[in-house]
Amino acid sequence: MNYELIRKNTNYIKFKVRNRKIIVIAPFGMPYELIEKYIQKFKEKFKKEINDFKIAYLLDKEPLSEILYLGKKYTLKLEKSITEISIKDNLIVIPIVKEDINTSLLNWYKKRAEDILLGFCKKWEKILNINSKKIRLKLMKTRWGSCNYNKRYINLNIELLTKTMDFIDYVVLHEYAHIFHPNHSKEFYDFIRLYKPNYEIIIKTQR
Ligand SMILES: [Zn+2]
Repeated sequence: MNYELIRKNTNYIKFKVRNRKIIVIAPFGMPYELIEKYIQKFKEKFKKEINDFKIAYLLDKEPLSEILYLGKKYTLKLEKSITEISIKDNLIVIPIVKEDINTSLLNWYKKRAEDILLGFCKKWEKILNINSKKIRLKLMKTRWGSCNYNKRYINLNIELLTKTMDFIDYVVLHEYAHIFHPNHSKEFYDFIRLYKPNYEIIIKTQR
């Protein structure tokens, strides 16, 4: 992750992350070597936050070279002779079309989300013998999903597509479980364990 250095009349060095870039605000007199050291420390400490791939990055215009899909990292490759996005080994191959790469990839993720996320919803509705009234798939900033248990609305984050199938399955079950147990009570987790005994391991491996 690259950075932008801004010098200011300040006493301390400060860091911000914006649009996949680290903004470093450093005092006028601070030597460059020292700034570099602080940046390395910052990068080490916030490794996960700054390197984590987000589908939302596709909303930026900046092109990506790598991407996560179902827990696996892929390299992006452009190709003229194809018409649809496809996966080949470690590559996601994208046709060169009129719309920009990020937009076509984002649309691809949205379509995959409908297939995969709604598929898991169907699965759990059948097993738990309940119906949701509405399922919304969207890009969310802070949560994998949410549930309005009174209205039986389920919201799922499209970012889930960067995670493994196991984790997605758990999150969908988690949201449906809220229809039975609104809070994260002991009963709630007993309920989850009943249907997914290894749920704790699944959560841990995602961190
Ligand atoms: Zn919850």
